[in-house]
Amino acid sequence: MTVAVDFDGVIHADSHAEDASCAGEPLAGALDGLRALMADHAVFVFTSRDPAQVEVWFHQHAPDIPTTYDPRDEPSAITCWNARGRLLITDRKLPATHYIDDRAVAFEDWPQALAAVNGQTAGDMLIPVRVPALAKPLAIGGVRRLSPNHPLSNRPCPVDGRALGEEPITLVHVGTRPEGRKDTGQTTGFAVPVHAVCAGLDTSGDPS
Ligand SMILES: [Mg+2]
Ligand SMILES: [Zn+2]
Repeated sequence: MTVAVDFDGVIHADSHAEDASCAGEPLAGALDGLRALMADHAVFVFTSRDPAQVEVWFHQHAPDIPTTYDPRDEPSAITCWNARGRLLITDRKLPATHYIDDRAVAFEDWPQALAAVNGQTAGDMLIPVRVPALAKPLAIGGVRRLSPNHPLSNRPCPVDGRALGEEPITLVHVGTRPEGRKDTGQTTGFAVPVHAVCAGLDTSGDPS
């Protein structure tokens, strides 16, 4: 397999510096993660930065990782990357079985992709309404906890604005898209993640 790994926000803390030599420190686990991937797969780093500068960053932070780079603004002979044990740094999206990217939306179909993008603004669309004091929302999937590195854990709970964090959460179903219905009888649904307590759910039985 070939695995593509984004640079900004995945390997180093995202900074807006144009010059990669000013890029931040490695993210926790990033370099060991790359070494582990490289033991089993061909791996390349893709970046919109100058690959030559990103290679300098690797030489500074992980001199044990053999690297090569795809020079910017030159015709490249590299059309795919199958070499194990050497990290390619390129500014082009080469074929890969997996892309690891902090901004990615995993594509299933267009209704799901639009939901994933638009769902990030769902908190902005919430309006206060009058409801019976004991009203329970329609929660799906029960009460669960996010793993510490889950991308949702930094998102604010739309009810109280605090980060979802590692508290018990639930998904509150808010609707389905008619054109999302599939032959299987499934449909693309939409849900908003909120703290379980903010959904009025009893979390006393939740294992902590
Ligand atoms: Mg990124
Ligand atoms: Zn909350």
